[in-house]
Amino acid sequence: MEPTFFPITGYKPVLISFPNHASAIVLPMSQKRMPACGKAGGEDDANEMNTASALHQDALVFDAHSDTLLRVADKNYQLADRHTEGDMDLPRMREGGLDVAGLAIFVHPRKHEGRIRERTLQLFQALERQLDLNSDLMTLARTTAEAETIVAKGKIAIFVGLEAGDAIQDSLDLLREYYERGVRYMTLTWINSNNWAGSSGESEKKQGMTDFGFKVVEEMNRLGMMVDLSHASDETVRDALRVSAQPMILSHSCSRSLCNIPRNIPDDLAQAIAERGGVVGVNYCLDYLDASFGERIKALRDQFAPREKELREHYKDEPEVLQQHLEALRTERKQAAACFLAARSDYRIVVDHIDHFVRLLGIDHVGLGSDFDGVEYFPSGLEDVTKLPCLTEEMQARGYDEVAIRKILGGNFMRVFRKVIG
Ligand SMILES: [Zn+2]
Repeated sequence: MEPTFFPITGYKPVLISFPNHASAIVLPMSQKRMPACGKAGGEDDANEMNTASALHQDALVFDAHSDTLLRVADKNYQLADRHTEGDMDLPRMREGGLDVAGLAIFVHPRKHEGRIRERTLQLFQALERQLDLNSDLMTLARTTAEAETIVAKGKIAIFVGLEAGDAIQDSLDLLREYYERGVRYMTLTWINSNNWAGSSGESEKKQGMTDFGFKVVEEMNRLGMMVDLSHASDETVRDALRVSAQPMILSHSCSRSLCNIPRNIPDDLAQAIAERGGVVGVNYCLDYLDASFGERIKALRDQFAPREKELREHYKDEPEVLQQHLEALRTERKQAAACFLAARSDYRIVVDHIDHFVRLLGIDHVGLGSDFDGVEYFPSGLEDVTKLPCLTEEMQARGYDEVAIRKILGGNFMRVFRKVIG
């Protein structure tokens, strides 16, 4: 579906106040503006852009989820170098005004079956090496006070989150070991259900948590580790809401009301999470933002899947040759997607999801969770971390005031992290 935009003449912001929350001035979603980012405009546009840019650079910007460590571990990706591939590195984080990066330690449960702990430790080592090499630019944060000190020194604070509860191998001892090593949040599942929690990727099973799952949440509460409900099934979210004594987050999830897929959070559960003091970090993955794009890209992936399976089978003993063939297949698929990629939604669709959550939950419960380096397609104008100021500019253009923008950019996640991890 080609998005329709209505340029506004005589634009007037509309004041929306939320009971029990600070008020924000929000433009109704039906009144979309033409994109301001990067366009040649008049003096007013230039002033607006300068103010937004100054606010963005001054604000604490917190991205709750990215998968860049996979590149670091598997492709010898040096965070200090500026790359043309991938979505994040230190020079680009600085340019995009990012202050706090939530880096995921993601272990693919099937790919690393039988050696999940080893793979988890391998990712830790990759991160720790980068922290050593770049100690003048980035530092691991174990508390929000540490994060604030690191940011005040002009460096990027790193929080570590485990993606997929599979990593703990059904062991609370291992959960505690990861905490000692610096992990401060964990998604209960990834796209697969595990032995103790159901995933949205298997939503048809309607599986929640087992008694051991409850113990995991209770131990995370006790340790001061944030429960991250992104990827969890609705049943798991409901169970976690029953058992958790602490607020919980969705580090990288969009709204099911705007894009109806199981991976996104329905309004009633988002409200329940917010009522406990939690925060939803809006994901920039286009498949989760725009249902029509998601359907098209899924159809294309399904079309190419048999050939990929065939290649994996045929070259299973020749990994390098297999990689070459897979790369060629990916290029072919990208070419096939070119026609609808060119017309894809732009970065303002992220702010549509932000708007929805702000209206539903109030201004104190919305944040950012990019999924950079974890997914294939992002909206145009938001291709990598350098483009983050566009979101601030768009929020400002829709009438969000400075206080509201600072909360969404990072203040809300800092608040909930402070409450849970210290
Ligand atoms: Zn994820």
